[in-house]
Amino acid sequence: MAAPRVLLINPWIYDFAAFDFWAKPLGLLHIGESLRRKGIDVALIDCVGPSDGKRFGTGHFRKQEIPKPKILQGIPRRYSRYGISEEEFLRQLDSTRGFDAVLVTARMTYWYPGAFRAIQLVRHKLPGPPIILGGVYATLCPDHAARFSGADHVHHGPASADLFRLLAQYMPLPVTGDEDPVIDCHPAIDLLAAPRYGVFTTSEGCPFDCTYCASHLLAPRFRQKSVEACFQDILWMNRTLGLKDIAFYDDALLTSASSHFIPLMDQVCRSRLDVRFHCPNGLHLREINTEVAGRLRQSGFKTIRLGLETATSGSERTIDNKASCEELVHAVSALRSAGYESHEIGVYLMAGLPGQSREEVEESMRKVKEAGARPYLSEYSPIPRTALWEAARKASPYPIEEEPLFQNPSLSPCAPEGFTIERYRWRKSIVGRDPR
Ligand code: SF4
Repeated sequence: MAAPRVLLINPWIYDFAAFDFWAKPLGLLHIGESLRRKGIDVALIDCVGPSDGKRFGTGHFRKQEIPKPKILQGIPRRYSRYGISEEEFLRQLDSTRGFDAVLVTARMTYWYPGAFRAIQLVRHKLPGPPIILGGVYATLCPDHAARFSGADHVHHGPASADLFRLLAQYMPLPVTGDEDPVIDCHPAIDLLAAPRYGVFTTSEGCPFDCTYCASHLLAPRFRQKSVEACFQDILWMNRTLGLKDIAFYDDALLTSASSHFIPLMDQVCRSRLDVRFHCPNGLHLREINTEVAGRLRQSGFKTIRLGLETATSGSERTIDNKASCEELVHAVSALRSAGYESHEIGVYLMAGLPGQSREEVEESMRKVKEAGARPYLSEYSPIPRTALWEAARKASPYPIEEEPLFQNPSLSPCAPEGFTIERYRWRKSIVGRDPR
């Protein structure tokens, strides 16, 4: 008897801007591997497709300018669909028929139009199999997704036994009850056409609870994989798939570093792998000391990003508890001693938080520069069900609750008027040219 078949779809990004900063649908790829281990025949259509991959695999996606959704008509910026053409999508769909179920993800709440379009096209071309929508948008905006997506089922929360039980209604599928694909499996990167880099995570969730962040909603428990399992994932990507650049997606890579990160990187160093590591999600700078900085350098971390978010002095701000300016100075100094240049140490700062002034962002940027690192602005996206949501709702001139498109950080949805346009002028004078 032929194995049941499941089609995974990573839909297009519809946005004002998008860049491939090691951006892959990690959760969907974990589900893909988990299903393969259960005997399912899995295929993937990656609508976003590979980027031009110019620097360590990162780069610009293909894009096509498209009309803005009606409610964004007043925004004076171009809107595009990033990824393959619809014709190419339909060609791939035609060549991969005979599925028992289709799983579609949507990685940002404001990217739902790409998922809706994929669902619409699949429904038209393959009217039989059930379509299940999951991912960040489905988890954070389940009512919106259930009302408007056109999917047969909306799965919210992390991939778990619930998702597999749902699939088991449509195909013979063993469900043990304690599945956690992120911890149990490596992501099925080999399903992607000609991947230029690997992505993976050594852990799930985050032990912190920053008020603007959805980590605890997307993965309620913080769990780390075993060091040996993480090492095997790296080996598989590097030696079997031949990938030299590998990005860590951990929210808290350095938690319990002495029993997790350090032994893992020691194993990597002993194996003399030809590999370059990147941490686009940011490291907790409080955890960076001489020992950790040395391992980062020796094991081949090329892209260092630290999470500071705001460096306002005497902070009345209590949005997170990640680090102080003193800890920033200490972390940067450890990284510099390990051999990193200032321009190689990036520090994420939030911009556009409810009630945040331009001066506050500027002050944080200056402090990062003074510490010997490079500030990177991370524009605030209001996220439903986070602690900061209510303040965001009140601060925003947009109906961010009714319409997830207004949660797009490109709109600076909670910043004071004029913040977006001014931003680029003063940013350049402080930071200089963005190497991207
Ligand atoms: S430390 Fe990072 S991932 Fe963890 S809750 Fe804060 S912002 Fe989210």
